[in-house]
Amino acid sequence: MGVIIDKELCTGCGQCVDACPFEALELIDDQARVNDACTLCGACADECPEEAITVPEVERAADERTASAKGVWVYAEQRGGEMPEVVAELLGQGRRLADELGVELGAVLLGAGLDGLCGELFALGADVVYAADDARLELFNDDLYCEVLARLIAEHQPEILLAGATSLGRSLIPRVATAASTGLTADCTGLAIDPDKRLLLQTRPAFGGNIMATIVCPSARPQMATVRPRVMKRGERVEGREGRLVPLELKPEDQAATEVMEVVRAIDDQVNLVGAEVVVTGGRGLGKAEGFDLVREMAAALGGVVGATRGAVDAEWIGHAHQVGQTGRTVAPKLYVALGVSGAVQHLVGMQGSDTIVAINNDPNAPIFDVAHYGIVGDLFEVAPAMLARLKQLRGQA
Ligand SMILES: Cc1cc2nc3c(=O)[nH]c(=O)nc-3n(C[C@H](O)[C@H](O)[C@H](O)COP(=O)(O)OP(=O)(O)OC[C@H]3O[C@@H](n4cnc5c(N)ncnc54)[C@H](O)[C@@H]3O)c2cc1C
Ligand code: SF4
Ligand code: SF4
Repeated sequence: MGVIIDKELCTGCGQCVDACPFEALELIDDQARVNDACTLCGACADECPEEAITVPEVERAADERTASAKGVWVYAEQRGGEMPEVVAELLGQGRRLADELGVELGAVLLGAGLDGLCGELFALGADVVYAADDARLELFNDDLYCEVLARLIAEHQPEILLAGATSLGRSLIPRVATAASTGLTADCTGLAIDPDKRLLLQTRPAFGGNIMATIVCPSARPQMATVRPRVMKRGERVEGREGRLVPLELKPEDQAATEVMEVVRAIDDQVNLVGAEVVVTGGRGLGKAEGFDLVREMAAALGGVVGATRGAVDAEWIGHAHQVGQTGRTVAPKLYVALGVSGAVQHLVGMQGSDTIVAINNDPNAPIFDVAHYGIVGDLFEVAPAMLARLKQLRGQA
């Protein structure tokens, strides 16, 4: 059964047509009509002021794992014995989710020569670490890592699995989701629990970043999500915290179909935006490429790095390596200064985790002020030089 539009109630206002993300609605003779592109997403029904639209509930049979699956897992990515910061961030978030569900937090560690890493995972909040320490896992390999992780999932049946949206995670995790016959929400910016249904609410930008969608996976387990670095806050590290270690033996026949001959590290010519404690970002309000001189001056004065909006990058005022946002870098510095940045949702998802946000914009209604801790309405070419002068004055006094 498809969407039902009550002809008696429909006034032909067209609001549902604009709300449909799939162009499945049109107005014919001042009445809304639905076509074959409809996915039964339900967005139109919420929008109709006359309550003229009924969208049938889609019942999907839950597989048998949904009832029995237990535990929150974090894939603890490592290379050469080093774990990226996102692992600590995921364990912090995983701990909160596990506590809410009243279950254990597990970490999965695959590699060779992993001494020391298990203790670190316990310190970061894991109750149990599933560790496969084998020479065959020394170099990351999609095939074998996927095989081992999917087997672990089948054996232990976690209800949630989180991983970093790193280059390694983006390569491995979709394969694992396919092998485990479950869904995956990539690049989540928010994770929460629906306490009634015990479902993971996975929020991420959708439809070109124009809306924030909350996605659920009601009928398969584990519920899998990837999260970009610097989006979640890391949890408290408790030195000496202990947990349960579950070693995993590989089978003699476990061999990757491909062989990694050599790993060559790319020369990193990226701006160190991700780890920076201070980021000063310029937007289209700078007017032209030379406007970034002021941004560079302020970044230097504050000991920070230069960021940019996509608007400024698209105008070719600065390189893409500086871009902050959905299609750029995600940053969470102590101080984020935005000069002439409107605050589009695609920009906000890349910086709203910053501790303190200062925005200068001459439009009092600019959305950047919704997330700013300190907002200054004014011409950036007057305000920023005044701030710089005061900064120099204070430094001189010191
Ligand atoms: C799929 C997709 C992905 C995207 N990814 C990203 C992304 O990763 N990062 C990103 O930033 N954007 C991204 N965008 C683009 C985003 O939607 C916005 O278009 C962009 O962020 C706007 O850049 P801006 O704030 O520099 O420019 P504008 O929106 O033009 O804002 C300029 C601001 O400067 C202010 N201003 C003008 N003159 C002055 C002055 N003299 N003093 C003070 N203020 C002044 C104006 O009031 C205005 O608010 C993406 C868009 C899409 C569709
Ligand atoms: S929003 Fe409701 S009233 Fe308006 S055109 Fe659509 S169905 Fe009709
Ligand atoms: S249910 Fe979704 S896809 Fe179908 S008409 Fe409504 S908004 Fe469009």
